Amino acid sequence: MISSIPEQMRALIYDRSLDPWETSKGLRKVEVPSPRLQPELSGKDRSAVIIRTLYAGFCGSDRGIWFRKAFHEMIYDSLDDEARDRRIVGHELLGQIVEVGDRAAGKYGYKVGDVVSTESHLVCGSCYQCRVGQNHVCAEDKIIGISVDGCFADYIKLPAKALWKTNLKRIRPEVAAIQEPFGNAVHACTKVPLRGKSVAIFGTGTIGLFAVLIARGLGAGRIIGVDPNPLHADLARRLGADEVIEPDLRGADPVAADEQVVTAIREATQGIGADVSMEMSGFNSAFNTAIGATRRGGEVILFGIKDGPVVVESFPRLVMNGIALHSVIGRQIFETWTVTRSLLEDRSNRIQELIWEVILGAGQETIVDIADWEAESFESCITRHPKAVIRFAGWDA
Ligand SMILES: [Zn+2]
Ligand SMILES: [Zn+2]
Repeated sequence: MISSIPEQMRALIYDRSLDPWETSKGLRKVEVPSPRLQPELSGKDRSAVIIRTLYAGFCGSDRGIWFRKAFHEMIYDSLDDEARDRRIVGHELLGQIVEVGDRAAGKYGYKVGDVVSTESHLVCGSCYQCRVGQNHVCAEDKIIGISVDGCFADYIKLPAKALWKTNLKRIRPEVAAIQEPFGNAVHACTKVPLRGKSVAIFGTGTIGLFAVLIARGLGAGRIIGVDPNPLHADLARRLGADEVIEPDLRGADPVAADEQVVTAIREATQGIGADVSMEMSGFNSAFNTAIGATRRGGEVILFGIKDGPVVVESFPRLVMNGIALHSVIGRQIFETWTVTRSLLEDRSNRIQELIWEVILGAGQETIVDIADWEAESFESCITRHPKAVIRFAGWDA
């Protein structure tokens, strides 16, 4: 294949010169210059590739950028460093390699035509964490679509070391485009063993829904979802949660544990409490409910985040019950990706089928072609669906 990258390409961007953070929302669809490999200007390009985007997933963090609720500092600081105003957003990628640097070919074996996804955290490889095998918490990491240009564009330049080869004979392309957020949930569900355990999942938004599927796929015992949103609760049931509790938040205390939910989870676990609770909502009250609903000696996985302080309602309840708290960020690179691949490629667990049929609604309104992309209708799409995928070049098997 001869590379024929056009001069200009379509991209979804945040531009701080046109849209001040405090008074704007959304992204702009614009034409920008396509990325090029220029090894004569930058030695790094020898280890990079140009990828033609096939599909790109729209993440919860992209929603945070859309509504200007998250990543303000990271975007502005990185634009300051680059002396620019425009950031191409997006980090959940499925694409096809169209140009390869000589080291990306020689050292990593990539060639034109390879289909890849990407780890979204670009790690430095030399900080303390990277050197002791914890590169998912690299001290110098950059995030695609936030601190470097992202994949809501026809083309993206990426370092070969971040890429993950994907077999489209085994994973359908729309699902392959969301391996990265699915991997977040895999990381959360592999932090402690789940086989045979009772698992309570607080917040069944996109990542919580993935967690229902993964906990089941990894052999969890009873799976209990908790979500006040009837749409999310219904999706969790359709994905196979044994029970879904819909707390009534009217007049609820923003900090205190919801004792009704605690009681319901204890009843669903023979009065013992959940072995493992996953806090995926970021709400302070959910954090305290998770601690209250977890059995003595159990574990709480923390994934949801919100800015600002979080109050531990009952410190004795946490300490005296010997509950372990684990924070989860990103994916272990690439251990989590190997588990992700095997869970998605194994058709017998029905995970891939349920992601497509239930979470992506079989593509109804959830797959948006970039040619038709328009800010207002897209905002309504991301408000109504747990997951949206933007089709760039697409893929015809
Ligand atoms: Zn994401
Ligand atoms: Zn590092």
